[in-house]
Amino acid sequence: MIIEVSDLHKSFGTNHVLTGIDLEVEDGEVVCVIGPSGSGKSTLLRCLNRLEDITGGDVVIDGHRLTDPKTRIDGVRAEIGMVFQQFNLFPHMSVIENICLAPMMVRKLGKAGARDRARALLDKVGLADKENAYPSSLSGGQQQRVAIARALAMEPRVMLFDEPTSALDPELVGEVLAVMKDLAHEGMTMVVVTHEMGFAREVGDRVVFMDGGVIVEEGDPQQVFSSPREVRTQEFLNKVL
Ligand code: ADP
Ligand code: MG
Repeated sequence: MIIEVSDLHKSFGTNHVLTGIDLEVEDGEVVCVIGPSGSGKSTLLRCLNRLEDITGGDVVIDGHRLTDPKTRIDGVRAEIGMVFQQFNLFPHMSVIENICLAPMMVRKLGKAGARDRARALLDKVGLADKENAYPSSLSGGQQQRVAIARALAMEPRVMLFDEPTSALDPELVGEVLAVMKDLAHEGMTMVVVTHEMGFAREVGDRVVFMDGGVIVEEGDPQQVFSSPREVRTQEFLNKVL
């Protein structure tokens, strides 16, 4: 198991947002998380690299217990790539500088080595000709592919995606999903919060439906999409499919 979440609780003040989440993700597995707005999907992802303090329960990532105060969180975070809805590229840096920054600062990679790795990743995401471009000159789909390359440059053990295509114009969604699909087929362990039900069905090894701060149902995507067991899942899928 790369990710082991047990009885995870998260509150913001009196707002009890996650009320006992159990989730295990195996090496190489692609888990898609679906569910209505406000159900706690982003909060769950953010607890997986402790962008949020954990109120209760346990989160273990690749053997590191995030809930143990002795765990060096920076070391764990270096193993976890995260891609957000907003691309969050550094606007004053070129594409290649964006990708090289963390490997040079955190992994202490030399400039030449970092650039070689960045170029290989740009090639992989179909942007080999954009290394000197600035983010503002790129489309949203291109920026998100750079953000994925930047996360991959740290050679993470896990990639977390929080609605990576939700801010994109519809015609740009496909190019980002294609990069994610390639990554999945290469064996990357991925947790993907998404509204792209086609992607979840086709690429996901498992789909997890969240509502009201709990996992209501999870299983094989074919099963969950074609014959959901829970009424809440049925109602959600009726709205989005
Ligand atoms: P989802 O990603 O499924 O739409 P979120 O995890 O973003 O849901 O939010 C779940 C609940 O947690 C919402 O009620 C939201 O208002 C609350 N919440 C999320 N982040 C914060 C925060 N930083 N402070 C207070 N409440 C928050
Ligand atoms: Mg969210």
